[in-house]
Amino acid sequence: MTGDGAFQGPSDLHTHSRASDGTQTPHDLVLAAAAAGLGTIALTDHDSTAGWDEAARAAIRAGITLIPGLELSTRIAHASVHLLGYLPNPANAELMAEIQRIRSARLSRAAWIVEQISADYDLTWDDVLAQTAEGAAIGRPHIADALVARGVVTDRSAAFAGILHWNGGYYRPLYAPDPEVGVRLVRDAGGVPVLAHPAAGGRGRIMAREKLARLVDAGLFGLEIEHRENTPDGKVWLYALAAEFGLAVTGSSDYHGAGKPNQLGENTTDATVVAAIIAEGTGSSPVYPARVVE
Ligand code: AMP
Ligand code: ZN
Ligand code: FE
Ligand code: FE
Repeated sequence: MTGDGAFQGPSDLHTHSRASDGTQTPHDLVLAAAAAGLGTIALTDHDSTAGWDEAARAAIRAGITLIPGLELSTRIAHASVHLLGYLPNPANAELMAEIQRIRSARLSRAAWIVEQISADYDLTWDDVLAQTAEGAAIGRPHIADALVARGVVTDRSAAFAGILHWNGGYYRPLYAPDPEVGVRLVRDAGGVPVLAHPAAGGRGRIMAREKLARLVDAGLFGLEIEHRENTPDGKVWLYALAAEFGLAVTGSSDYHGAGKPNQLGENTTDATVVAAIIAEGTGSSPVYPARVVE
């Protein structure tokens, strides 16, 4: 292993593949990242590490560094809170049991949502399965794709603005652990926890400062501040919190392929922060590109 190839381009630490709700295979995602001029990406599928191996093989050949990660679903009351975890051990029993539990909950919740929708629209469970890669962490985006295929809506965004909105009449929250539990699970698996888009959806939804303090005590490493869904006011507040608590700051795209407008590399993370994540992440190793020997 050599770090030579690690920081030759910008780093985008939040991307999704078909192992969850991105629209590209891990292989195609990595090729797209290389084509976009990125030097490092993290693969952070929701509640899944299933894309890691394919992404690693592609990264070695495409000449970019891969940081294996995930985006753990957590929840405070009815609000979902996403926690990025970099370089956890994919054999850690507790973390794997928890993401398995969340994936099972995703499946039953998606089936419930589809059952409700099918009372009013022409939509079947098979339609949704047809949009979902085998073993993927299923979610509302797959239901959105099925609604698009049925011609009910034009794209995922339209589906989320209406039928799939939490207020749309067909919603139920997903089982997920408390974020404090999530931070400990990621740390105990040797991973590095970063709170994803903490100011998405407006300042009113940012968790209380006291709650953040408890996450810091539990081992939170950083805040994903440069993310298109964090509001401008929210970012100002988050930078102040990062300074107060000594948290690292990351920036990333949250790329979902064609599933969202977010483009690879639209936000990036400083090389010093990437190096610190790699230094603290002991559960697995980054995958560095093969060096061409002449
Ligand atoms: P779920 O995990 O089932 O609650 O669905 C949430 C997922 O849907 C998140 O990963 C988001 O990235 C995605 N999502 C939320 N809003 C939109 C939107 N307007 N367009 C496309 N994807 C969205
Ligand atoms: Zn997603
Ligand atoms: Fe997220
Ligand atoms: Fe995400």
